[in-house]
Amino acid sequence: MSLPTQARIVIVGGGIAGCSTAYHLSLMGERDVLLLEQGKLTCGTTWHAAGLVGQMRPNRNMTQMSRYGIELYAKLEAETGLATGWKQCGSVNVAATKERMQVYAKQAALARSFGVEVEVISAQRAGELYPLLRTDDLHGGLWIPGDGKANPADLTMSLAKGARNRGVKIVEDVEVIGVLTERGRVTGVRTSQGDVACEVLVNCAGQWARQFGRLAGVNVPLYSAEHFYIVTDRITGVHPMLPVMRDPDGFIYYKEEVGGLVMGGFEPKAKPWAMDPIPSTFQFQLLGEDWDQFEPLMLNAIHRTPCLETAKVKMLLNGPESFTPDGNFVLGEAPELRNYFVAAGFNSAGIANSGGAGRLMAEWIIGGEAPSDLWDVDIRRFGPFMANRQALAQRSGETLGLHYAMRWPRQELVTARPLRTSPLYDQLAARGAVFGAKNGWERANYFKPAAAAEAKPGLGRPDWLEWVIAEQRATRETVALYDQSSFSKLLLQGRDALAVLQRLCANEIDIAVDKMVYTAMLNERGGFESDLTVIRLGVERFLIITGSAQTTRDMDWIARHIGAAEHAFLTDVSAMVSVLSLMGPNARELLARVSPDDLSPASLKFSHTREIDLGLARVRAARMSYVGGPGFELYVPVEMTRHVYLALMDAGESLGLKNAGYYALDALRIEAGRRAWGAELGPDETPFEAGLGFALKLDKPSGFIGRAALLQAQGQPLRKKLVTVVLDNSAAYAWGGEALLMDGRPVGELSSVGWSPKANACVALAYVRGDAAQRAHAGTPVAIDLWGEAVSATAWDAWPPRGLTRS
Ligand SMILES: Cc1cc2nc3c(=O)[nH]c(=O)nc-3n(C[C@H](O)[C@H](O)[C@H](O)COP(=O)(O)OP(=O)(O)OC[C@H]3O[C@@H](n4cnc5c(N)ncnc54)[C@H](O)[C@@H]3O)c2cc1C
Repeated sequence: MSLPTQARIVIVGGGIAGCSTAYHLSLMGERDVLLLEQGKLTCGTTWHAAGLVGQMRPNRNMTQMSRYGIELYAKLEAETGLATGWKQCGSVNVAATKERMQVYAKQAALARSFGVEVEVISAQRAGELYPLLRTDDLHGGLWIPGDGKANPADLTMSLAKGARNRGVKIVEDVEVIGVLTERGRVTGVRTSQGDVACEVLVNCAGQWARQFGRLAGVNVPLYSAEHFYIVTDRITGVHPMLPVMRDPDGFIYYKEEVGGLVMGGFEPKAKPWAMDPIPSTFQFQLLGEDWDQFEPLMLNAIHRTPCLETAKVKMLLNGPESFTPDGNFVLGEAPELRNYFVAAGFNSAGIANSGGAGRLMAEWIIGGEAPSDLWDVDIRRFGPFMANRQALAQRSGETLGLHYAMRWPRQELVTARPLRTSPLYDQLAARGAVFGAKNGWERANYFKPAAAAEAKPGLGRPDWLEWVIAEQRATRETVALYDQSSFSKLLLQGRDALAVLQRLCANEIDIAVDKMVYTAMLNERGGFESDLTVIRLGVERFLIITGSAQTTRDMDWIARHIGAAEHAFLTDVSAMVSVLSLMGPNARELLARVSPDDLSPASLKFSHTREIDLGLARVRAARMSYVGGPGFELYVPVEMTRHVYLALMDAGESLGLKNAGYYALDALRIEAGRRAWGAELGPDETPFEAGLGFALKLDKPSGFIGRAALLQAQGQPLRKKLVTVVLDNSAAYAWGGEALLMDGRPVGELSSVGWSPKANACVALAYVRGDAAQRAHAGTPVAIDLWGEAVSATAWDAWPPRGLTRS
């Protein structure tokens, strides 16, 4: 087919992601779609994938996406007439440790509540389902009958045929070598055979997506790693409907192919592929065998399936696949360029997920905003700093290695750190801070006493809990200092700054100078795009403070809503301002020791801010508390942060001042019923459902985005309702993500959990969904599925006080 000179939508890349996006765009009625592939369809990574297709994903929306993919793969051949190799053979996941089995039980409960059929099975039953297995050292497993396998190349060709049948043009052997833009929008692509004008571009360039993105200044942080499997000759007992089998403790998986086995895996120490740039001629190509790298997997496989000791290995396949800094794929519209979409970085799960991801992309492109909460995979979770290739190489090695590894609750990634640090990093480290990382920022999770041994990972009551409880007690009883400098801080200035914020925010923003207000930015569905506090610094100057992870997302959301004629300028000042929070009953007394300014409640009311002297510095003090109770947030110029910290530490000793970290902060805000974006608040939740109706100003004259949806929902029964859940048994320790049960039936899941010294038990926030939402009232008995055991708890529909929500 010859190259057209224009198309409404151009897709770059003819792997499974590009073909699925094309298929779904056409299914939704888009006819003017052009897919360009530099080689032949599937020639990149897709052709050599193993083809395992599973449906268990960590959250509801992602699971829905995978399930949809499976439904599609099961019927695609009937539609297009092209075989896909789809076989619903089911899958068996085995557990070689007690803890893995506990995690399976939790996953099974969640998956069931998401509608996936899954059975927790014994080791013996695993052996019956998969007779090649050695089971004597297994603790059991999971059986997921709906899982299956496909032939990746055939499946992709079938999707391409479905797209072509509805008018999509697919042109092979055309390399896209540039992106044409005008006023921050895509206007076309430059190809090896000439220019093509377009309105929308979709980067589905697989492992080339990062270098292709760079052509247009778009950051797609992914990096390739070598990825292996062996293919054996025929083995007795291996048949086409033999289930897929995964032994994550051995880091390996198996699939039947032509009467033999494909066995591959995710070795803990992976091997990044440092090819930069990746040549466009890398088509239907593989990398060299590396038996040393594969050996740990091979040894584990011989142990798990002894038949491999004697089986003839036909080949060791080594193909590069792209991995991302957090192991999740990359979807959505790039914040750098309008109408530039990305679907890439599938972390060795692109066959399983492209069916659903292609549909989400099509909905996103046509609908103009993400169709549901896709934050886990949203391209805006990455900051520009993540383009660094050395960091990406380190991270891709780590995320590949973690694919099957046991993931402990609150486990932190370790590579490419420390990177973004507050001016207090060394000070806090010297005082025992144990850091975690969010959006690249190092943040103290807790402070470990010098003599104590390091906390070991585990599923039960954590070693660090006593230290965190001490920080919580200081916050409630004396005073604690939290370094919250990682907050995103955005400055919006200009004659129209107020008008922009009024349109975007659901609360009244026309407040007095120096006052602050808690508000939400909503989408047209009334769901939270962000929640934030706004300080009015001047008549035309507003400081917007949001969660640490949301900088790019919130910048994007605000910037895209500033009209071309509007006089409003947005700047990310996150790294210019530190935030030190002094929380607790002694906070005011402490400030009085270092500041001559009057900070009494009569002088500085709640939600008000003021510039004050502090030691030799000038800072902005805000009377505000996220953790509940009295407290001040101090907004400090970065260069004076060390001075302010030392002045406070010096003056605070006799007042019981204690350094505290994010684990304490999180537990306290949960105890106080404060919601956090990304946990309780997201694009699928409305303020009514989240119990935050008090922060709405539905009648403000400017109106705001999402108001119409809220007016419609007002007074209607809630689709889901946020409740506080207090575990009845103080010996039970939960982490979040557990299924919530009412009358024995799953009705939701825990979004956040922390230890509450006040309750002497774990306290959680959770949405109760569907009809059950009407039945959850103060004191309702519920249960949570804790590692497979039902643990009793009590739900409260409003645990006062309520208020701010930032993390
Ligand atoms: C060994 C191995 C085993 C795997 N096993 C599984 C599995 O069992 N299950 C699973 O779900 N996933 C598996 N995967 C992962 C899966 O193969 C990938 O996630 C998936 O194929 C990615 O598809 P894609 O369309 O994003 O990328 P690709 O298939 O690489 O497609 C991108 C295309 O873009 C083209 N392109 C790039 N730049 C340009 C340009 N400038 N102009 C025009 N065209 C361009 C390339 O030529 C390429 O064809 C495995 C991967 C490997 C390596």
